Amino acid sequence: MNIEQRIQSLEDKTQQIKNHLLTLGDMRPGSLSRQYNVCGKPGCRCKDPNHPKRHGPYYQLSYVHRGKSTSQFIRPELRATVRTQIATFKKFRKLSDQWVNLALTIAKLKLDAAKQKLSS
Ligand SMILES: [Zn+2]
Repeated sequence: MNIEQRIQSLEDKTQQIKNHLLTLGDMRPGSLSRQYNVCGKPGCRCKDPNHPKRHGPYYQLSYVHRGKSTSQFIRPELRATVRTQIATFKKFRKLSDQWVNLALTIAKLKLDAAKQKLSS
């Protein structure tokens, strides 16, 4: 493959990534964790000396955005939706990364091609 063909092939791959990005649905960064809590009520089951049974599970979403970390509770019925959004965000990140890798390679090949033209 000559340099133009290589560039073309990488540009085709880039187009596939762009098409894939367009199909992504709702997304959000973060991770979900399951938590069990102890309350302040005296004599509550969560503080039973022999068989403590803590409250929960509660689902907590944590994420960092623009350097600020945030967490919030997610209602159990929204857990599946949030999981899908998190998975979509990971896909988005992976595709963006691949796009940047391709873009860097394409930029380098185009510079090489320009140099070849100058020296020939
Ligand atoms: Zn309790």
